[in-house]
Amino acid sequence: MEFSQLNLIPGILDAVKDAGYKEPSPIQEKAIPAVLSGKDLLGCAQTGSGKTAAFSLPALDIIARKKAEDNETKIRALILSPTRELALQIEECVKMYSKYLPLRCGVLLGGVSQKPQEKMLREGVDLLIATPGRLWDLYKQRLLRLDAVEIFVLDEADRMLDMGFIHDVRRIAGEMKQNKQTLLFSATMPDEVIKLIDDLLHDYEKVMVDPVSSTVDTIDQRVYFVDTVNKHKLLLNILHDEAVYCALVFTRTKHGADVLTRRLSKAGIKCRAIHGDKSQNSRQEALRSFKSGKIQVLVATEIAARGIDIDGLPYVFNYNMPEEAEMYVHRIGRTGRAGASGSAISFCNFEEQPILYDIEKLIGHKIPVIAGHGFPMSDFTVKQQSGGRGASVKTTEPITSGSFAPPTTSKFPKSMSRPRRPRSFKTMR
Ligand code: AMP
Repeated sequence: MEFSQLNLIPGILDAVKDAGYKEPSPIQEKAIPAVLSGKDLLGCAQTGSGKTAAFSLPALDIIARKKAEDNETKIRALILSPTRELALQIEECVKMYSKYLPLRCGVLLGGVSQKPQEKMLREGVDLLIATPGRLWDLYKQRLLRLDAVEIFVLDEADRMLDMGFIHDVRRIAGEMKQNKQTLLFSATMPDEVIKLIDDLLHDYEKVMVDPVSSTVDTIDQRVYFVDTVNKHKLLLNILHDEAVYCALVFTRTKHGADVLTRRLSKAGIKCRAIHGDKSQNSRQEALRSFKSGKIQVLVATEIAARGIDIDGLPYVFNYNMPEEAEMYVHRIGRTGRAGASGSAISFCNFEEQPILYDIEKLIGHKIPVIAGHGFPMSDFTVKQQSGGRGASVKTTEPITSGSFAPPTTSKFPKSMSRPRRPRSFKTMR
């Protein structure tokens, strides 16, 4: 299918062409006609599927047509994002897609001064992207109106829930008119999201792509069994290999991210941390440095990295295993985008082994183990349920569920591609 078959106005088609998109992605192919027909939409999709264009292209189309009728500037489309980074990313995309349209787009984020946002609202906005907390704050201060919203997009609803924004989201939705069009996107469908869908969506079309349990074929996944105390040494070892010129490293906690960043910096690795305690400016600066190749490593917590889109990212490390199996799929989805190859390397200590098994169950296959590395796990203690808590037996092997790939002694096994630096490591906007 071609974009020109989607019935979008010429200004949008030209912008999409400028963006270099040759054909709509599967979610765009299904979602765009549904939204243009006026239906609500439930999109089960994750970052990397092209979902931003799937909701913003038809939203822009609809509001541009409406504005042509009355020539008024008012908030006709609202896009809610759980994180500031994702909101900024959506804003960049929307600005790119709307560059030939007489529309004003703006973003409201927490963590930065309110003044410029007030000015922007006074001057008028047609499409607003916002994080729920700041939007609700400004709404309560009567600095914006929501009664003209025709299209309401809720992006990453599951993450809204995780981050405790669901009440703000419900309150915000309650301030908009009943007959608006609602587009809700979520990578996973926990009960609370299903409840939200029941409450917010009417006569909706469901579009499912890339279910969360499918990890992209192009991602080479490996796991190292390693004790916590040795994780940073193992990481340094791998990072010093020139092939790993660019890596996103996930830690479990903000403190863990800071500690690791200090250790890596001390060892001469150019790196920055990005997490919720960093100011918005610092987070954006770190992201810019990473995207432009100024730093080799970005150490991030799950939430801070959520939705971040980094073209051509070759390596993702799970320095700490994620707390939930589904998070693993989100995390490693940062690499191997758009058919490019990528590697996802996980460091698993003794306590983290149960989550590894959950992950393997979710993705439906074993993750090959890299054995024979310099920092083998020493604690192969099996804590047995019988005999009381804490009773233990020693084994000589890492505990695996039986069919892991045979160990290999090289630091990078042959099958693990050493991605060469792409000719143009596309610095992301
Ligand atoms: P998203 O899932 O919205 O974060 O998009 C992931 C990446 O795919 C972004 O870098 C988009 O610019 C890009 N993208 C979205 N739609 C298309 C398309 N139809 N063709 C090529 N790239 C696309």
